[in-house]
Amino acid sequence: MNSLKSFFFSIAILAFLYLLTGCNSDADNYYTVDDFYSVEKIDAHVHLNVMDPIVIEQAINDNVKLITLNVNSGRVPITHQQDVATQLKAQYPDQLAYTTAFSLENWDDSEAWQQQALDYLEESFERGAFGVKVWKNIGMELLNEDGEFVMIDDPQFDPIFRYLSDEGKVLFGHIGEPHNCWLPLEEMTVNNDRDYFANHPQYHMYLNPDYPSYDEIIESRNNMLDKNPDLVFFAAHLGSMEWSIEMMSEHLDRYPNMIMGMAHRIPHLQYLAQEDYDKLRDFFITYQDRFVYSTDLMHYDESVPEEVRQLAEQTWREDWEFFVTDNELEVWQVNGSFKGLKLPKEVVNKIYHENARNRMPGIGI
Ligand SMILES: [Zn+2]
Repeated sequence: MNSLKSFFFSIAILAFLYLLTGCNSDADNYYTVDDFYSVEKIDAHVHLNVMDPIVIEQAINDNVKLITLNVNSGRVPITHQQDVATQLKAQYPDQLAYTTAFSLENWDDSEAWQQQALDYLEESFERGAFGVKVWKNIGMELLNEDGEFVMIDDPQFDPIFRYLSDEGKVLFGHIGEPHNCWLPLEEMTVNNDRDYFANHPQYHMYLNPDYPSYDEIIESRNNMLDKNPDLVFFAAHLGSMEWSIEMMSEHLDRYPNMIMGMAHRIPHLQYLAQEDYDKLRDFFITYQDRFVYSTDLMHYDESVPEEVRQLAEQTWREDWEFFVTDNELEVWQVNGSFKGLKLPKEVVNKIYHENARNRMPGIGI
């Protein structure tokens, strides 16, 4: 009987010690604001289109590596973007990776266009690109010779995406727009969308009902993915599904090679954190292998370098606080306050660097 007593006593002592050490488990399981520097971070979506290294230097200070994306948006010629990216990469080989973009000029000359795109991609991969970005002009801007919108599942793209899939290159897709784009300004959920579409009415689909619908654009993207099941697809901007946790979950289940970048959509997540905090947090934990941190930071000739540097520093630190703490937070993009997600360390590590490296072959940083 005595030995039974001492057995229970030992159990009680052990339980007490467990509870005591349990007090430290928060520090073991979660990062704090002060851990910002110590954790390696990759910002997988920036646009560095100037030789000024101010953002890269800030990134080094903040323990952030960068992926700069060439983009066929007409703002800067893609050949120039690629020259800048390769020169920056030569100077900062461990700090920077880049993806290329192909031109859509000469689209109506189908075979010539395909050959020209494939040649350009081959050259880009020889120069060090590990992926390719396609932009929302596919599905929302480019018309074929019959005056129809060219969609991302157009068979003319098939050999291009097949080539990327065969070569193990990553396709970054900014296809479509946030769901807010199809709503009037006053019904949009976040202020950054309200600002952007007020200033870019040509992309505000609520005003352009003759354009492809939200559902048609998503369907075309899915058709393209169905044709290329092995292609690694980086769904930029949460794949334009930022408004619905159900929709994002369904697509992540359906497309195992889809990973999600969150650039410019973190405010949408913060809005969702206001709506249903537990559901959003569970979503991140369930799909922890599928998210890649990214911001869409832009540095162009017309930018003020010091402003870009400050925005980079501010954004990286604000986002860090959102993901690692449960502080009550406010940002200009979202009306009202919201709580940080306080994700466990292993989830934060995945989002901030492991997923980018494990999921995207050849990033080399
Ligand atoms: Zn971008």
